[in-house]
Amino acid sequence: MTEQKCRISKKCGGCAYLDKTYEEQLKLKEKWVRSLMKDLCNVKPAAGMKDPFYYRNKVNAAFARKKDGTVIAGMYEEGTHFVLSAENCLIEDQRASRIIKTVCRLLQDFRIRIYNEDSGFGLMRHICIRTAHETGQIMVTLVAASPILPNKNHFVRKLLELHPEITTVVLNVNERHTTMVLGKRNIVLYGKGYIEDRLCGLTYRISPNSFYQINSVQTEVLYGKAVELAGLTGKETVFDAYCGIGTIGMTAAGKASYVTGVELNKDAVRDAGSNAKRNGVKNIEFAAEDAGRFLHRMADEGKKMDVLFMDPPRSGSSLEFIDAASAMHPDKIVYISCNPETMARDLKLFKERGYHFHEVWPVDMFPWTKSLECFCLLTAEGKRIGSPSKAVNKKDKKLKKSR
Ligand code: SAH
Repeated sequence: MTEQKCRISKKCGGCAYLDKTYEEQLKLKEKWVRSLMKDLCNVKPAAGMKDPFYYRNKVNAAFARKKDGTVIAGMYEEGTHFVLSAENCLIEDQRASRIIKTVCRLLQDFRIRIYNEDSGFGLMRHICIRTAHETGQIMVTLVAASPILPNKNHFVRKLLELHPEITTVVLNVNERHTTMVLGKRNIVLYGKGYIEDRLCGLTYRISPNSFYQINSVQTEVLYGKAVELAGLTGKETVFDAYCGIGTIGMTAAGKASYVTGVELNKDAVRDAGSNAKRNGVKNIEFAAEDAGRFLHRMADEGKKMDVLFMDPPRSGSSLEFIDAASAMHPDKIVYISCNPETMARDLKLFKERGYHFHEVWPVDMFPWTKSLECFCLLTAEGKRIGSPSKAVNKKDKKLKKSR
């Protein structure tokens, strides 16, 4: 069984389904979504992977020093901050696993101190590796508690000698006592400071702090189907909310009249703008703002859209967003989600605001884990729903509090 191939599966807790066959996992995930959507709509069979291993293109690992001085890196034991050495992880890109092993050895050889979360002393906190699926480019981000990495040129030279496949090395500074892995400041130690990958025929620049889907194979399946569902004809005004580096909007732009993307993370918006230029996509623009606030303003200004793509984080969308989106009355909304629970909650709110939907499509982006990506097409039923500024009803107020 696969369970036996991973030494730390019980402690790590990431891959909860290692004792199941892949077919069993897909069935369980489908069942879960069906139970969440039972009064709302049908659920399609989950689209699985042909080869469900080593799919994670982003690997984060925390550093720790063992009592004997050995440096290890890996994920935290479930519910703790005790680092488990992640050798032979079954879902992480194997090139990343090999580089992490080397970096641990080099940190030891160079006598670089490891950060201690309790005392706040020490330097090196995490490593984050991103591997581009199509171009093969690799970015190593070393997260440190201070911008001063002793012997950095020698360290980087040695790392590149052992791993010439690395295309860029970045030092990320995270001085704060926080559970967030990355700080805001990036110092490029080698290469361009970002990687480029190809997705659905377009090239994307990905910076250390920008969101990028972690399973490139399944992302192509997801975007392809989601854009197809929108049934674009070339005439539509499209919004891409929670757009990250602009991937969904750019995939749709070739089939639409104009696309507007909105995203909170400024680095991602900068990447998105440069991605549009790089690919010669001229009918797209991006705004760096909270998606709810942005849409609220657009709705108040009387702006219209025909199709809305929305891909919120795990916590789902906000009431402000749902009210504003409904008030702009797009004919179609394609809701993409990495959390079926918040998706079900938000779909109910759209239903109350006159939207209709038939089925949810699950795409398995995270084999062996309990997570699942889903998307759903919503269509307007014809009745207009007031302005986003109107007071929210009592039920919504309660919901707002619980967010
Ligand atoms: N659509 C993109 C990103 C989806 S992940 C893709 O497929 O790659 C969700 C994105 O929402 C992240 O980039 C995150 O930075 C962004 N985000 C989170 N909260 C937000 C908010 N309140 N307003 C706008 N964007 C937000």
